[in-house]
Amino acid sequence: MQTNYPKELSKEKLLAWLRRLGEQYHTSFVVSDPELPDNPLVYINDAFIQMSGYQRDELIGKNCRFLQGPDTDMDTINSLKFKMDNEMPIHTELLNYRKDGTPYWNELVIQPLKDETGTLLFYIGLQIDVTNRKQTESIFIVQQEIYQGINKGYALTSLLQKICDLAESFFQQGTKCSILLVGEEDRMVVAAAKSLPIEYNKAIHGMKIGLNAGSCGTAAYLKKPVIVTDISTDPLWADYKEFALPYNLRACWSIPILTSDQQILGTFATYFSTINKPRAVDLEFIQRLIPLISLAVKNAKNQDEILRLAYIDSDTDLPNRHFFTNELKEILIERKIGCIAILEPSEFAKIVDIYGRHAGDDLIKQLGQRIRRRCKGTHDVIARFASSAIIFVHVLPPRDVESFANKVAQIATDPFVLGDTEVFVTLKMGVTTFTKQDDSADELIRYADTALSDAKKRLGNSISYFESTQDVATKHEMTISNHLSHAIQRQEFDVNLQPKVNLLTGEITSFEALARWISPNLGIIPPSVFIQVAENSGKIRSIEMQVLHKVLKWLSSRKAKGQKLYQVAINVSTDHFFHSSFINDLVNTVKDYKIDPQYIRVEITESIGLVDFELAKLIFEQLQLAGFESSVDDFGMGFSSLSYIQQLSFSEIKIDRSFISKMDNEGTLAIVRTIVQLANNLNMESIAEGIETIEQLTILRSMGCQSGQGFYFYKPMPLHEVDELLRLQL
Ligand code: C2E
Ligand code: CA
Ligand code: CA
Repeated sequence: MQTNYPKELSKEKLLAWLRRLGEQYHTSFVVSDPELPDNPLVYINDAFIQMSGYQRDELIGKNCRFLQGPDTDMDTINSLKFKMDNEMPIHTELLNYRKDGTPYWNELVIQPLKDETGTLLFYIGLQIDVTNRKQTESIFIVQQEIYQGINKGYALTSLLQKICDLAESFFQQGTKCSILLVGEEDRMVVAAAKSLPIEYNKAIHGMKIGLNAGSCGTAAYLKKPVIVTDISTDPLWADYKEFALPYNLRACWSIPILTSDQQILGTFATYFSTINKPRAVDLEFIQRLIPLISLAVKNAKNQDEILRLAYIDSDTDLPNRHFFTNELKEILIERKIGCIAILEPSEFAKIVDIYGRHAGDDLIKQLGQRIRRRCKGTHDVIARFASSAIIFVHVLPPRDVESFANKVAQIATDPFVLGDTEVFVTLKMGVTTFTKQDDSADELIRYADTALSDAKKRLGNSISYFESTQDVATKHEMTISNHLSHAIQRQEFDVNLQPKVNLLTGEITSFEALARWISPNLGIIPPSVFIQVAENSGKIRSIEMQVLHKVLKWLSSRKAKGQKLYQVAINVSTDHFFHSSFINDLVNTVKDYKIDPQYIRVEITESIGLVDFELAKLIFEQLQLAGFESSVDDFGMGFSSLSYIQQLSFSEIKIDRSFISKMDNEGTLAIVRTIVQLANNLNMESIAEGIETIEQLTILRSMGCQSGQGFYFYKPMPLHEVDELLRLQL
């Protein structure tokens, strides 16, 4: 600051001159005199009075520290003191308090004024209220935290509490915020209200929205802000003030949280311990928090919906097959023993023909209820297996399986009441047992299914037990397994590429590599067969390394010819992924071919997180560090890992073909839509697998799904055909 005043100017004249300067300032300007005890204020301008809410005579003669309060940062105060003691200029930001206790952020500049001998005469203090900027910064930070929180699957209440904490920090001490959501039957549910007394929250929880229902109930009902400055006298609180006043809750402002189509989600409330009227800036600030709240709430609803759709058969409210498989996996991990049975009423199709689909669903539902009454074990899971069948698992010793199955079969002795008719059904049942050694849920389900096919060949009620020696598939598997080793040595595996395309432009963006095996002895073996055998016999890694080499060789030959490179996704099976040298081998192989890791994408099935989540996370981090992208394959098939998936660093979600092919079903369509939205929210790309028709393409486009793959565009093809295709595209 320029202090060019005549040398002979006395201290009083200097002060008079500073006063005139201060009067011209639009922002706060104060002068203190460090030569007086405790460095008191000797001049303050009008702007300062307005900002602080004090009268002039309350301030003159006092040290400036009255502006500090309970949440003013101690480190800032200490550094301020240090600089003043050393007569240094200061530029800082700190939390100050108005006379009424409202906090505000102060950008403070303090300039020491010295005379020509170096004697300190005055301090000038310039202050600007930067609360608005601070609020914007804090909202931005909380917004980031909420995005990350949603990403990581944090509980909704913890996200909402962050917003309450933020709001409280900008109001006077003792301010308490709460977020209530409108639940079933228009009743309010306390979603976040950590600072409010538990007893008070209990009293409010479940209250119905309506007129005269406190600030929040009324705000939710009217869908308008409701500002109550004095709870003790306001008629809106007549029925509720007895809960609030004992806790010193005197004022309550409530702002409704609405969706874009004006549906009420909940309310955001701010409570004060004194009678309090909002300023325009207060309401503006709260309004800025509302979109954050609705974002968090809508996401939570989305996720609940995904889980519900993914686990429950909405026609019968029975768990579905995915749910069953996951539960069975848990039971197998716990090394339990017991049986799995699939049960089908022969007359299902006929009943649907005559009485409609609804009657069929009703029959399945009633069967489920009757089975539930028969088997009462803690581990039992009963689920809809297919439209016409029910599957269940029961934990019991093998010797009791037969008598148990006979008992279950009796559930069909009484007729079923469907609408106003009674029908008798014939039950076919396929049963398989499992021991502590069994670890493949899918395999066991397949066994029970095979047994069911057998039961269906017989007349009347019938039960068939799966006998492993009869399993033709097992024999076939052994033949294949025997040939696999040779095939690996002789490098019989080849690779086909299937283009991934941009759904809007149809442009090829990248490829997926798919293994192919033509055995000189066995002929063409589809990957659906040999991949599983290779996985079961520990040979998958060698096959996948051959695929990787072929892909890299192709890329490097394109590179040598100066042709454009495309990213290729390779499928990596669980065993390979967790192999101790996976990352090392991958990085080195890619390096050997001098290909940038960005051209290789790793596709992993969704169930990876279930195997060893912490290790999977680590491997993903290493992959990302090394520059590889990754996709989660077959998404939607094993939903138990949904919350895990969000913590793993995938950049792409592949929606399983089984969903795409069934989008004419409303439930499936909703699942696909939610997955696309979820991916969008998580900043991931969604890619639809197995697009076969223009109708599927149109639906996916309208949902905002960016990429796809499927026979509608291209089938998987040999490398030379890919080159040809890319050449023609130029
Ligand atoms: P995936 O990873 O889900 O691969 C997609 C499969 O869907 C491929 O079958 C592909 O040909 C097929 N497909 C693509 N578009 C369509 C379509 O529009 N309609 C229909 N009906 N099918 C379509 P593919 O090549 O028979 O492979 C089957 C599975 O074998 C793959 O499913 C993958 O799980 C596995 N697989 C293939 N190569 C490898 C590999 O190198 N490693 C591992 N672990 N698995 C592999
Ligand atoms: Ca794949
Ligand atoms: Ca897939």
